[in-house]
Amino acid sequence: MKIGVLGAGQLGRMMAISGYPLNHQFGFSGNSNDEPSALLGHMFALEDNADNIESLVVFADVITYESENTDVEIVREINKNVPVYPGEKSLFITQHRGREKALFDQLNIPCAPYQMVNSLTDLERAVAKIGLPAILKTATEGYDGKGQFLMRSKDQIKEAFESMNGVESILEGFVNFKRELSLIAVRGTDNDHKYYPLVENTHHNGILRLTIAPAQNIDVDVQKTAEHYMQTLLDEMDHVGVLTIELFETENGLVVNEMAPRVHNSGHWSIEGANTSQFENHIRAITGMPLGDTSLTHNFSAMVNIIGKIGPTQIPLTMPNANLHLYDKDGRANRKLGHINITADSLADLEKSIEQLKDFLPN
Ligand code: AMP
Repeated sequence: MKIGVLGAGQLGRMMAISGYPLNHQFGFSGNSNDEPSALLGHMFALEDNADNIESLVVFADVITYESENTDVEIVREINKNVPVYPGEKSLFITQHRGREKALFDQLNIPCAPYQMVNSLTDLERAVAKIGLPAILKTATEGYDGKGQFLMRSKDQIKEAFESMNGVESILEGFVNFKRELSLIAVRGTDNDHKYYPLVENTHHNGILRLTIAPAQNIDVDVQKTAEHYMQTLLDEMDHVGVLTIELFETENGLVVNEMAPRVHNSGHWSIEGANTSQFENHIRAITGMPLGDTSLTHNFSAMVNIIGKIGPTQIPLTMPNANLHLYDKDGRANRKLGHINITADSLADLEKSIEQLKDFLPN
C-alpha cells in the first residue's frame, strides 16, 4: 500500500524503515527536504500547505500522522477520501490535556486532580481546590516538559499564569511518584489488540533519556491493570494503530499522566528488543495486516537517547549487543538526534552496557 505520513520527522523515518520489507511505499508532508524522513519516500514539501497535503492524499491509500498536534480539521477533510488512522476521535482527545483527563475520569482511570484555567481568577480557584505543589501546563502543544510551570507557593500564581502567555491551561495536582512508566499497545482494524510490557522511563530536564524494558519488579497485576486501562481507551476511541500511555507508579498504584496516539520514544527499544517493533505494528495495523508478536527478543532491552550532540558513536558501534539509530539531524541543544538500543540476557549485562554508554547520558 501507499502510506502517507503527515510529518517527516524521525518517527516517519522509522515507520518507513519498518514498512518497506512489507512492500509498502511512503510519502511524507513536511516543510523541507532536509527533514529526517525526506530520503525515505516521496516528499510533498511544497510552499503552500494546502497543495502539499492534497498531493499527499492523491498519492496515499491510507494516511497516518507523527504528532498529536496535527490539525483535526485537515484529518476530517482527508478522511472523506482516504482513511486516516488513528481516527479523528483519538486525535481530538489526545491533543488537549483537558479532554484527555475528562475521558480518564469518564472511564474510571486514575489521573491527577485537575482544573482548566482560562484566567487569573480560574488559577486562584484551582490552587484553592487542588492545593500545592501543582503543575500548570498548556492545554495543548506541550511536549518534553515545555509549557509547564511547577508551582510550590501561592506567591507564584501570577508568575505561573503569565508564563502561559494567555493560552488555555490546566492545573494538575503534583503526583508523588516512585517511577515513570509507559505502556504501548496496538489495535488493528479488526479490533485485535497487542500490548508491549510496561517499561521504565528516566527523564532529565523533561526529556526522556533512558528506557528499560521490561520495567523491573512489576507485579503481573500491575501489568494487567495498565492493559485494562489501555484496552478501555483503545475501544472507547475506536483507535487503530499504536497508542502510548504514560503512567506514574505511586504508593497507591498507577496514575495515568497522558497518552499519545502514535509510536513513542519510550518504544524505540522494540526495534531490536521485540519480535515486532512498535513501528512495524503501527504500519501493520493501519494497513489491515495481522499484528505481530510483541514479546521481547532477549530478557532485557534498553534505549539510550542521543540528545543535543551525537557523541562517541564508535562505542555502540563496537558493542555486540548495541544498535545505533541516527535520524539525519544536525546537533542543537535538547534536540533528539538518535538513540542506541541494547539487548541483554541478564540484568547485570544490561547495566554493564548502559554504563559503557554513559557518555550519552546526563551526569
Ligand atoms: P508531561 O509533558 O505531562 O509528560 O510532563 C513532563 C514531565 O513532568 C513528566 O514526565 C513528569 O516527570 C513531570 N510531571 C508531569 N505532570 C506531573 C504531575 N502531575 N505530577 C508530578 N510530575 C509531573
